[in-house]
Amino acid sequence: MRRLSWLEFSSVLLVTLLIFINLINTKHASASVPESQSFTNSKNRNIIRYCVDPDWLPYEAIIDGRHTGISSDYLALLTDYTDFTFVLVPTSSWRQSLELLKKGACELTPILNQTPKRDAYLSFSDIFFKSPNVLVSLKSQPFLQGFENIGDRLLAIPKDYRLVEYIQRFYPTINTILTDNERQGLERVANGEADVFVGSMFSVNAYIQQHELTSLKIAGWGGPEDELRIGVTHAKQDLLPRINAGLAKISQAEHISIYKKWHNITVIEDIDYSLVIQVVTALGMFILFLLYRTMCVSKYNVHLEVNNKQLQKLQLELEEKNSDLDFLAQHDPLTKLYNRQYFNQTFLEDARQPQEKTPQNNNISLIIMDIDFFKAINDMHGHAIGDKILVQVAQVLQASVRELDVVARWGGEEFVVVCQHVQLHDAAELCQRITDELTYFHFYNNINVTCSFGIALLGDNEPIQACFERADAALFKAKQSGRNQYCSA
Ligand code: GH3
Ligand code: MG
Ligand code: MG
Repeated sequence: MRRLSWLEFSSVLLVTLLIFINLINTKHASASVPESQSFTNSKNRNIIRYCVDPDWLPYEAIIDGRHTGISSDYLALLTDYTDFTFVLVPTSSWRQSLELLKKGACELTPILNQTPKRDAYLSFSDIFFKSPNVLVSLKSQPFLQGFENIGDRLLAIPKDYRLVEYIQRFYPTINTILTDNERQGLERVANGEADVFVGSMFSVNAYIQQHELTSLKIAGWGGPEDELRIGVTHAKQDLLPRINAGLAKISQAEHISIYKKWHNITVIEDIDYSLVIQVVTALGMFILFLLYRTMCVSKYNVHLEVNNKQLQKLQLELEEKNSDLDFLAQHDPLTKLYNRQYFNQTFLEDARQPQEKTPQNNNISLIIMDIDFFKAINDMHGHAIGDKILVQVAQVLQASVRELDVVARWGGEEFVVVCQHVQLHDAAELCQRITDELTYFHFYNNINVTCSFGIALLGDNEPIQACFERADAALFKAKQSGRNQYCSA
């Protein structure tokens, strides 16, 4: 092994000594900064010893022994706008910085929230920077919106942060776990040791991006936003007016410039597509159901309309059939004259209550008419011709009477005529007229058709039945007397 030269040995010793001194400086900052530095320096500038959070980017940090971050930039501006010179007292943790501030080994800390506990040993400048606090969770967790929805989840908070006091005061039921710093809190959530972390949006975002903690997301807002100020020890609170004056000189452009330099928030649009799909599916199904229902209703309506039309048609047919039935019930199908049943119902059956049912006007004549030797016509020309002769006789009879007279086929080749407001001689005239018409009428096969008539005048209060029998007797008499003539009862 080669032996070191004296020069090499001296160089190694010097470097080791420098590293050792630096380490001592970091660990025991209060011992390394002389009290004398708080006095005015040679250029009449006030030297102020300050402590920072060494691990709170982008707000502040100590990297390679140098102060960096947002608070560093603000102190640089304050150096320009005041007669202060700021000298960093290096520390290894925020807790250590707070301890040094309590002891007075540090006189100022450049960026922090004001809290009642801190009021005990610090005085605060005006607010110069605001930043929201956010809740951070695994992406698999729902969006919590705020502390209200944390429920029984475990919330990680960096100890000595103002938020610890805030949670204890306003949300004492939330399960909390204190971490040494923001980094540790975020790592606990990423590892599943805590469910939610709350911290400043800027630092949280910076850390997530630096360490690519892609499993994490911003899950909501966390309490009041940070209102960051400069804190000075009570012993140095007379500096505050000048510090505030210096802060007031910082222009809007300079504020924005610092903000832009350190702000690097990326908004991750985390839409809950499963919820969107569920809502769209439900909506789609509802629309389909409505369409299906509308289709069913319109189909049913068409069906109903067809059925209604069929029903109307059937009703019409039924009415026609009924009227046919009525006609058939009252009329003789061959001659289309009223039938015997109708005649009986209308006149003869009323005979049971003669006083009530007998027409009041006694000028009613009843005529019974019978075709002479009709059997011989049938025999000679056939039954079918006989039918046609019956129809022709009915036509002659119907044409001969007045509208108000009622003509009925009594049966076989016998007919009945009821004449209203007609005296016996008028009825006789009618029989003669019919006889004449029969004489002139051109019957089938040139058959000569004659009829015999029996006439009776309805007597006062005489039942129709009795009158009918008298007319029948008169008819018999006409037959006896040689036919083709009328006889009165
Ligand atoms: P009289 O002069 O005495 O009345 O003689 P007549 O032949 O007309 O009387 P009779 O009672 O002997 O005969 C009636 C005939 O009428 C008997 C029957 O065959 C016929 N007749 C009854 N109803 C019908 C019918 O609807 N159509 C046909 N073609 N003939 C009928
Ligand atoms: Mg007869
Ligand atoms: Mg006859």
